[in-house]
Amino acid sequence: MNSITIPTFINTLKENNINRFHLVYNQQNNKVESSHEELQFLADFMNNDTRDFEEHEGMFFQLTEKYDVLQGAFVHRTKRGQAAGGVRFWQYDNLEDYLRDGMRLGKGMTHKNALAGLWWGGGKGVMVHNTDIDKNNPEYREYIYTEYGKLLTSIKGCYVTAEDVGTSVEDMQSIYKTTRFTTCIPENVGGSGNPSEPTSRGVLRGMEAAAAFLGENLEGKTIAVQGMGHVAEPLIKHLFDKNVAKVIANDINPDVVKAVKVKFSDKNLDARITEKGDNSILFEECDILAPCATGATLNKTSIPKIKAKIVCGAANNQLEDHDKDDKALADKGIIYVPDFLTNRMGIVNCANEQYGYVNDDEYFERHLTKEWNQGVYQTTLSVLKEAKETGQPTSKAAIKQATDLSMELHPVFGHRSLKIIESLVKEKWFK
Ligand code: NAD
Repeated sequence: MNSITIPTFINTLKENNINRFHLVYNQQNNKVESSHEELQFLADFMNNDTRDFEEHEGMFFQLTEKYDVLQGAFVHRTKRGQAAGGVRFWQYDNLEDYLRDGMRLGKGMTHKNALAGLWWGGGKGVMVHNTDIDKNNPEYREYIYTEYGKLLTSIKGCYVTAEDVGTSVEDMQSIYKTTRFTTCIPENVGGSGNPSEPTSRGVLRGMEAAAAFLGENLEGKTIAVQGMGHVAEPLIKHLFDKNVAKVIANDINPDVVKAVKVKFSDKNLDARITEKGDNSILFEECDILAPCATGATLNKTSIPKIKAKIVCGAANNQLEDHDKDDKALADKGIIYVPDFLTNRMGIVNCANEQYGYVNDDEYFERHLTKEWNQGVYQTTLSVLKEAKETGQPTSKAAIKQATDLSMELHPVFGHRSLKIIESLVKEKWFK
């Protein structure tokens, strides 16, 4: 599978006149089945390699007529409601990487949404950039996102999309032209706007809970923050409001560093411009490390050198190898607060968008209170406690809690999205 490049696969689709296909889990025989005989090898791959596949209820794909862009909706589990999660626009070396990323991200959204107590299932969209075309070509972008909206309309709402890496507010507007099954729409058409500030407060609550778990608080602490973007900047402000002694932060974008430096010129902020690939911030002498830039920073190379006793940040998928890195952190006595627990506010914002807004919305703010038992603070405490009691790494404990919650049925609609998927198969959706 990893020898099949995306262009090769696209040629296979074209040779077989396939524009749309699906891979759906058959609940009766516990096997993934392909809509097309010619593509059964994809289903077999999932049946045989369960590193990322976990009974994903349905995966729906299309190839755009123009520009040859492979687009997918990876629906993982929908017992709590429609699958919700953003659409990623990315490049992949081969088909296996693409499918595995989609499945892994979809599963991650099931965990994040369930742990946040949202009545949403988990899923993710992923589309593969055609590298022959300029990624920023506005015509290309408008076309592919409008087509993506059509894909979502065709699958009748079993997956509801949102913004993710590589997708912009303008792209969301294009999706919104052809489907109602999207959240994170721009503010000028009734969307909820940028969730980065609340995300930063979620991270802060995670840090506070981890400190409290150790019988401490944030006052007087030194915090190292990787990345100084939309989440990190308000996070730095909240940290100083909590009287931390010092913040060390870095970013590869000099303009970002300069702007943040000016903002906190009266605070003990050590802000550094670093080269891409320079991860020295992770190894700072500090109490808490907050990865707020890119994923996979916690790995077998970096973990041995980390000096912080708590790691808690916003970046998605911080662990490069989930099983091994989670354990390596625990073995080193580092308290790792899983990213999918702390950075939930983005999806909370998007997922609840359709219910309208009030100022200081209690259904939103409760995630950030210290009292609500499904808020970031209490959930972090409960995960850390369970990890300690059961001797398992924190991420495993969090996934266990999330999985249990993801099995609860939506109180009104039950497992409706599964019925949608079954109907799509029956109606031969791909035709
Ligand atoms: P952002 O793009 O505004 O900020 C990220 C910053 O990291 C940028 O300024 C970039 O220059 C910098 N950066 C990239 N690579 C770096 C490196 N190797 N070293 C140092 N700096 C580096 O993004 P954001 O909205 O602040 O999000 C930060 C992270 O949190 C991302 O991983 C994102 O997926 C995740 N996240 C964000 C939200 C949200 O609400 N914004 C929600 C959930 C998860």
